[in-house]
Amino acid sequence: MAMSTMIKTIETYNPEETRALGERIGREAGPGQVYTLIGDLGVGKTVFTQGVAVGLCIPGPVNSPTFTILQVYEEGRLPFYHFDVYRIADVEEMEEIGCEDCFYGQGVCLIEWADRIRDILPERYTEIVIEKDLQRGPDYRRITVTQEGRL
Ligand code: ADP
Ligand code: MG
Repeated sequence: MAMSTMIKTIETYNPEETRALGERIGREAGPGQVYTLIGDLGVGKTVFTQGVAVGLCIPGPVNSPTFTILQVYEEGRLPFYHFDVYRIADVEEMEEIGCEDCFYGQGVCLIEWADRIRDILPERYTEIVIEKDLQRGPDYRRITVTQEGRL
């Protein structure tokens, strides 16, 4: 049975706070963990991801792999598989990339725009939704963390 548990909602007021939240999640991430990142263009998915990379002790910059879909970082505490599936044509393209090896491997997966590939996500993953609320200012973000699958 599909299960979904809301873990927490965090509000951030600048990019540094979003990056710091990502860093905490990166520090706590274990092998085989999959994170999905949902939110509109420019909401802060890549900022969050850069924090996760710091938390995984990955040296050097992590940018959006929009044109490659998958960027692999091997030099951190655990392998880091950073997907940006914004330009994915169909889920078969994901399979060709070898997403299954990443999803069910010993590294940490993070998938920007994961709502585009819902059908092929593993049963268990942590979903992070980032939203703006312009009434609260241009830099305000509400970040909701939900555990999908059994806890
Ligand atoms: P996405 O990957 O979702 O398209 P980016 O992370 O590339 O978005 O860009 C987010 C932009 O929003 C950056 O320019 C960042 O400086 C800005 N920003 C402003 N406030 C915040 C915040 N609270 N959290 C994250 N990013 C923010
Ligand atoms: Mg991005």
